[in-house]
Amino acid sequence: MAKKLALRITRTTRPGPRVADPDLGFGRVFTDHMLVMDYAPGTGWHDARIEPYGPLTLDPACLVLHYGQAVFDGFKAFRSSEGGVVLFRPTDHIARLNSSSARLCIPLVDEAFVLDALKQLIRLDADWVPRTFGCSLYIRPVVIATEAGLGVRPSKTYRFYTILSPVGAYYKEGFQPVRILVSDKYVRAVRGGLGAAKTPANYAASLLAAEEAKAAGFTQVLWLDGTERTYVEEVGTMNIFFRVGDRLVTPPLEGTILAGITRDCVIRLAAHWGIQMEERRISMPEVLAAHEAGELLEIFGSGTAAVISPVSELVFQGRSLIINQGRIGDWTQRLFETLTGIQYGKMEDPFGWTVPVSP
Ligand SMILES: *Cc1c(COP(=O)(O)O)cnc(C)c1O
Repeated sequence: MAKKLALRITRTTRPGPRVADPDLGFGRVFTDHMLVMDYAPGTGWHDARIEPYGPLTLDPACLVLHYGQAVFDGFKAFRSSEGGVVLFRPTDHIARLNSSSARLCIPLVDEAFVLDALKQLIRLDADWVPRTFGCSLYIRPVVIATEAGLGVRPSKTYRFYTILSPVGAYYKEGFQPVRILVSDKYVRAVRGGLGAAKTPANYAASLLAAEEAKAAGFTQVLWLDGTERTYVEEVGTMNIFFRVGDRLVTPPLEGTILAGITRDCVIRLAAHWGIQMEERRISMPEVLAAHEAGELLEIFGSGTAAVISPVSELVFQGRSLIINQGRIGDWTQRLFETLTGIQYGKMEDPFGWTVPVSP
């Protein structure tokens, strides 16, 4: 076992220019510092440091560039209404990074150490956390395989790093519904595959379908199961929920979809409110039948970036399903307001989801 990791801090001498909150967008601006550490056999994770944000130097033969051995995660820090900065469910996100790593043969990190180091990084760059409601600091931890070699096998060495990006409000013109294309042409993941890991290959696999959907005027693709192309899975970077009558239905975690932390928040809020929640397979014929019967009252996606994303229309095999006359449903609205209320400290947090970054 490696000895307790120390954290070295090198401050930037050239702080970057600030961008006004309304001009932030998503993932285009980065803060002054990043957290980095390296892994080698025998030594384990070592040389943990906070250093100025900047390019990585990699051998062109390194394994991540050829065979995609990498994982990442994504979560957020918010400036709460009292002025302090809080992280949203950081422990769950770091644990998920490790569960993705396990699938990709990547060595696990010490979760408590990473959380503490991240808090130090965010304290150093605290001034970059936006002050506008709806804006936040997006946190992107990554692990990549750094060993050079063209043989297909797990790398012996790795780099962990985390970069921070102040991001703008996801809904610039207010909470907006999206149109979604159900894909029966491409699939994202199959059972036993990589679907439950946050790993670059899944996103590479999704690009062509997403581009075709965008060209046809849709925001996102809804994926169906890879075998029968019948059961609903998830949307782009969001899990999906259907309100059928007074029940909420979401696909189960069977290894093909990501175990979203926002998905878990929705499930726990639904239980808290006494809503009947069903984690089970839901097929497109069932969705179509519920719509025809007038029971498909709401559809929404859940994910860190958008929090809750109302769906106004699903298109499947040329058939259009307009949901709730294209308007945002009550449950969708309430979930969005409650989750963002907890994140920004405007509402009580009975679940202990927010963690202050101050010591
Ligand atoms: C990140 C992600 C989600 C949402 O997960 P959260 O933890 O809620 O942010 C859902 N599906 C996929 C494919 C994702 O990459």
